[in-house]
Amino acid sequence: MRSDELIALYAREGALLEGHFVLRSGMHSGRYLQSALLLARPELAARAGSALADLLRPHRACTILSPALGGIIIGHETARALGIRFLFAEREGSDFRLRRGFRVERGERVVVVEDVVTTGGAALRMVRLAEEAGAEVSAVGALVDRSGREACFPIPFHAIARLPIEALPPDQCPLCRAGVPIVKPGSGGNDA
Ligand SMILES: [Zn+2]
Repeated sequence: MRSDELIALYAREGALLEGHFVLRSGMHSGRYLQSALLLARPELAARAGSALADLLRPHRACTILSPALGGIIIGHETARALGIRFLFAEREGSDFRLRRGFRVERGERVVVVEDVVTTGGAALRMVRLAEEAGAEVSAVGALVDRSGREACFPIPFHAIARLPIEALPPDQCPLCRAGVPIVKPGSGGNDA
C-alpha cells in the first residue's frame, strides 16, 4: 500500500476531516485524521496492518505494543500479519500502564505501533514503558506520520504515509482568530 493510496482511503471513508480541531496535545489544527473510521472496515484494517507489517518485518520483533485506544486495531492487525504477540497499554491519568496481566519480558524484542503520530508523545511513552521492563524496542510504526519532522524517535520510525499537518498553539491559531467553532474529536489518533 502506497502513501497516496492510504490517504485516499482515509478520504473515501470520511476519515480525513477538515475543520478546526483541538488535538490531545492542546494544539489546534485544520485537519484531523479519524483513523477509527478507516479501521471500522476490517478489510481495510487488515490491508493496512499487512502493509505496516512489511515495513516492520526487518526488525524481527516478538511483540507489538500499542497505546489504547487509538493503536489497538492497527497494532493487532500488524501483529496478526507478522504472526507475533500484541499488547496494549492504557491511559492512567497522564501516563500509560500495562494492565490485564500484560507483561513485557526482559530482552524481548518489541516494536511500537500507533495509528497517527503527531508529536509522538504516546508512542514514545510506549517505547519507555517497554524499555523500563527490560525489553529491546527496535522501531516505531504508524499508519500516518503527521509530524513533519525527519525523526521524532531515537529509534527507526516507519509510516505508510506522511501527511504533515500544521498544528499550532491556540494563541497562534488563525482559525481561532477567525472565530471558527472548535471540535474536540474522540480518541483514535493525532496523539498526545
Ligand atoms: Zn484554533
